[in-house]
Amino acid sequence: MNDVIERFLRYVKIDTQSSEDSITSPSTAKQHDLAKLLYSELQEMGASDVFYDKEHCYVYAKIPSTDNGDKKEAMGFIAHMDTSPETSGENVNPRIIEKYNGEDIVLNSDSGIILETSVYPEIRAYVGKSLIVTDGTTLLGADDKAGVSEIMSMAKYLMEHPDIKHGVICIAFTPDEEIGAGTDYFDIKRFGADYAYTVDGGGIGELEYETFNAASAVIEVHGINVHTGEAKGKMKNASRIAMEFDSLLPVQQKPEYTEGREGFFALMNINGSTEYAKLSYLIRDHSREKFEVKKELMQKCADFLNLKYGDRTIAITINDTYYNMREKIEPNYMFLVNNLCDCMRELDIEPIIKPIRGGTDGARLSFDGLPCPNICTGGHNYHGRFEYCCADSMKQIVDLLVLLVQK
Ligand SMILES: [Zn+2]
Repeated sequence: MNDVIERFLRYVKIDTQSSEDSITSPSTAKQHDLAKLLYSELQEMGASDVFYDKEHCYVYAKIPSTDNGDKKEAMGFIAHMDTSPETSGENVNPRIIEKYNGEDIVLNSDSGIILETSVYPEIRAYVGKSLIVTDGTTLLGADDKAGVSEIMSMAKYLMEHPDIKHGVICIAFTPDEEIGAGTDYFDIKRFGADYAYTVDGGGIGELEYETFNAASAVIEVHGINVHTGEAKGKMKNASRIAMEFDSLLPVQQKPEYTEGREGFFALMNINGSTEYAKLSYLIRDHSREKFEVKKELMQKCADFLNLKYGDRTIAITINDTYYNMREKIEPNYMFLVNNLCDCMRELDIEPIIKPIRGGTDGARLSFDGLPCPNICTGGHNYHGRFEYCCADSMKQIVDLLVLLVQK
């Protein structure tokens, strides 16, 4: 029996929320709290090459080979320690619901926060299983502390069972994945794996080797403020122009209207006055071609408004964040996906391959030479108060990792 649930309950209590507004690395110092704990737990269990990058908050370790060097290649597992900036991760108060009965779950009776099965119908698949939920005031942190716990639990199990034959296993825990900076200081060489998996997916059975292509865009509008009584012909209202910019983007290409392989423009932040306004967007598409078209469209919308309101009214900055890892996996590394599917079937888990509508640390690493598909963690509804995780799934995923290292 593995200890994954106790670990998980321990780790989610540690606030590791990352911050988009920070210029430091890690973005928040509190991520070190979990890093330190993982570092000492890895040392305690006897893992080798345990290393804590105290400057940038990465933890690395290895489980030595038990097959006398028959398996030449080193397999890696990666999870991220931070939680999303979108919802608080402070004072997380997880609750276990044993033998879930399929009904709505009252997360917080004081505030009337209810996890409704009509809104999240996939939860009905867990009738009879144990679920871990929030108290409705914070996120849970299954993204990605479920992954962290599963990797740690696998490591502990393997250290205690040297009879299980496997090659060198490399482990890494990263900060700041949620703000797209999880691999900024990732040391692939120190990590030491020839290929790896991130354990950062969703419900049991899900595996992914396709991510979005991703960019962020910041639009700044420079207006002119004049007394409203004397504004005619003089005022240039930056807020209004910002709204106009947003209205130029295709209405149906927003997160709330898209699914599967449909890309989008997501307005993440808007603030402004007459004088100055700022819009922040995410641009996402699985197709590289459509991704480039989306970026071009944004640029053209800015050009159009500059033509309409005068040069330098709008400034646009677009930065690519990561690319679809399928480009890197499909040609040479499909065995990683196939092995994982085989192991799942051995454990009676039906593999569900679908494109990630997001990114993972693995997307960037795949482009840096470390192919890195993504494995499920057992969690759902990430980044919000309705996040939950299936305890039975987490235990199964530890079994899955233990099986996978023997392939
Ligand atoms: Zn994640």
